[in-house]
Amino acid sequence: MASEFDLIRRYFEQPARDVQPGDRRMRRVALGIGDDAALLRPSAGMELAVSTDLLLEGRHFRAGADPRKLGHKSLAVNLSDMAAMGAAPRWATLALALPAANEAWLEEFAKGFFALAGRFGVELIGGDTTRGPLSICITILGEVPAGLALFRAGARPGDDIWVSGELGGAALALAQPGIAAAARRLDEPEPRVELGERLRGIASAAIDVSDGFAQDLGHVLARSGAGAIVEYALLPRAEEVRKIQDAAMQARLVLSGGDDYELAFTAPQSSRDEIAALSADLALALTRVGSIQSGEPKLQVIDPQGRPLAVERGFDHFAP
Ligand code: ADP
Ligand code: MG
Repeated sequence: MASEFDLIRRYFEQPARDVQPGDRRMRRVALGIGDDAALLRPSAGMELAVSTDLLLEGRHFRAGADPRKLGHKSLAVNLSDMAAMGAAPRWATLALALPAANEAWLEEFAKGFFALAGRFGVELIGGDTTRGPLSICITILGEVPAGLALFRAGARPGDDIWVSGELGGAALALAQPGIAAAARRLDEPEPRVELGERLRGIASAAIDVSDGFAQDLGHVLARSGAGAIVEYALLPRAEEVRKIQDAAMQARLVLSGGDDYELAFTAPQSSRDEIAALSADLALALTRVGSIQSGEPKLQVIDPQGRPLAVERGFDHFAP
């Protein structure tokens, strides 16, 4: 039977990557997997952005979930945090607890993980592997030019509120399994890494929509000490969500459904043209949905007549 070390070598060790092909001095990793710690070479003038996410079977994903999709998703949620900071993802560690040394599972998981990592130039530099209830903990490190990171705290009264892509699809997949487009949004979210980097110097605040748009925008408001008005009808929603006849359910998916991993961000009104151009350039919908208000950090969602709508709470990881 394969030992812990065989498994790591077989599935997780990757050849070092050169920043400039063929130029070893330009490697971002001085020492990768195989020693007691990795050694990184951050670029001059950059700040490191660091974030960790823990995914547990039964809490964040179903028992028996497709390992390739899990490999994708567990990295995607971390990349999404880098995007929300305006950071370029560079390095990741992977702490894995597995009930058994299931090589077929590991091979598929690694495929999903490295396919996504490769697209964004992320190197796996270490981790830990142990027997235990299935859990996946990834720490990601990224770089952002000093002073240009995007914070939750930067929204100012008068700023526009924007959201990328479409909301509600992932939550729909949980509520109604069997809709293929929705399932893809839930299982294989596309982290908005390029958008995050391009929003440096444009966005005043940003967050990724992981627990529900209303709740996540609420974090921006709390940190920024400002309120917001959002027009419900403007919120971009996936085709399959727009088809939901039950209006209350549709509102729940769009406002409180988690797992979309879109970016919600704010920007001064003077940036509208620049953001429209960015949207065209990235071929990614960027929709203006409301504005930041002075006063209490409270979110008001209004209908086309200007009447307030009730908003449910988003996902709470401590809910039983
Ligand atoms: P230590 O005893 O110092 O914790 P380990 O024997 O656990 O080291 O790990 C050996 C090497 O393999 C280390 O470089 C570690 O970072 C790496 N590693 C262990 N598990 C993983 C994993 N799941 N993914 C990537 N690297 C891993
Ligand atoms: Mg160890």
